[in-house]
Amino acid sequence: MSDDTPRQKTLLPRVDLPSGARRETLAVREGLPPSAWGENSEALFLTSSFCHPDAATAAARFANEEEAFVYSRFTNPTVMMMERRLAALEGTEACIATSSGMSAILLLCMGLLKAGDHVVCSQSVFGSTIKLIQGEFGKFGVQSSFVSQTDVRAWRDAMRPNTKLLFAETPSNPLTEVCDIGALAEIAHAGGALLAVDNCFCTPALQRPVEFGADLIIHSGTKYLDGQGRVLAGAICCSQQLIDDAFMPAMRSAGMSLSPFNAWVVLKGLETLDIRMQAQSARALELARWLESHPAVARVLHPGLASHPQHALAMAQQAGNGGAVASFVVNASDAAQARERAFAVIDATRICSITANLGDTKTTITHPASTSHGRLSEEQRLAAGITQGLVRVAVGLDHLDDLKADLARGLDPLAA
Ligand SMILES: *Cc1c(COP(=O)(O)O)cnc(C)c1O
Repeated sequence: MSDDTPRQKTLLPRVDLPSGARRETLAVREGLPPSAWGENSEALFLTSSFCHPDAATAAARFANEEEAFVYSRFTNPTVMMMERRLAALEGTEACIATSSGMSAILLLCMGLLKAGDHVVCSQSVFGSTIKLIQGEFGKFGVQSSFVSQTDVRAWRDAMRPNTKLLFAETPSNPLTEVCDIGALAEIAHAGGALLAVDNCFCTPALQRPVEFGADLIIHSGTKYLDGQGRVLAGAICCSQQLIDDAFMPAMRSAGMSLSPFNAWVVLKGLETLDIRMQAQSARALELARWLESHPAVARVLHPGLASHPQHALAMAQQAGNGGAVASFVVNASDAAQARERAFAVIDATRICSITANLGDTKTTITHPASTSHGRLSEEQRLAAGITQGLVRVAVGLDHLDDLKADLARGLDPLAA
């Protein structure tokens, strides 16, 4: 090899699967080939570092000329199996795993933004996402505008010459507002920016944002990817080039790494993601229909309901599926009474877990205004539509009749 020939990077092997294997198959098989021992279930590699056969090989690996495992802050086989599997499900070239959903958004911003850049973000995204972009990155000179989730014109009007990133979450938490991914991708690309979509609520089982033009997919693996409320995890799915140029350098320096154990839990969770999402979404739609007919309920929000403002868009974007989260507003005459009634409904449950987490097989119930969105100002909350009477139910695998009875216990006395 002459000196001016670029050295070909030696890559890690792929799992030996026939080309064109379908998503269901990839969900249980994509990853890395088994180790020397031929294990059928993926191995958990609890090791902080990896040994090299000699000093020259170590040098080549540190120089990134040979893809190999070096140090678990940025390379670990169990973590890589999870990354490859999630990328296969999202239909992206690559994926980088992080210690939580928030650290995925931290890595996104560290990798893509610098002082003077501008972000356009939906005002309906996860509360901590607003805090991170506006508060933490604002401190370092990153500008941000927050716009209506569903108003495409507001996104377009918010664009500036220095806009580098558009950030959307669809459906949003907890109102399940749906934004038009294709329209936002066009706006982003026309302005030379990238579109990131937080796909937490749908997961790739229901919605693959890259198919509509999104550049980056954000995940809180803590939710449906794990699926049983055990670990914190996060990920960014995108092109290999963005991982190599923007995210891997930031990950190596900043270390918001996913632990191999948590990666292993998520990896195994991905195997049942599809059937869990189908089953939980079907229950959520049934529960939403029942809530809609309850006299103590003013409004129900679930993208599968014909009454949902973006029902048609949601069905087109989410493979005809509304997702497993349903929110409802209790009837009340003012904000104080609404809060009291929402609390009463939550406190009357005996099956639902009172917790702000979601994506679990156990159904969870929460009052967003005082929990997940409690750190926002009242003005920000109202802009996002989080009123005091709002209750969010993230439906798990509990029997539907038990869930109805659980909510009826608090709702029926309010209707009397
Ligand atoms: C929970 C959540 C996050 C943050 O994820 P963590 O794993 O808790 O850090 C981000 N986005 C959405 C939509 C979420 O629901």
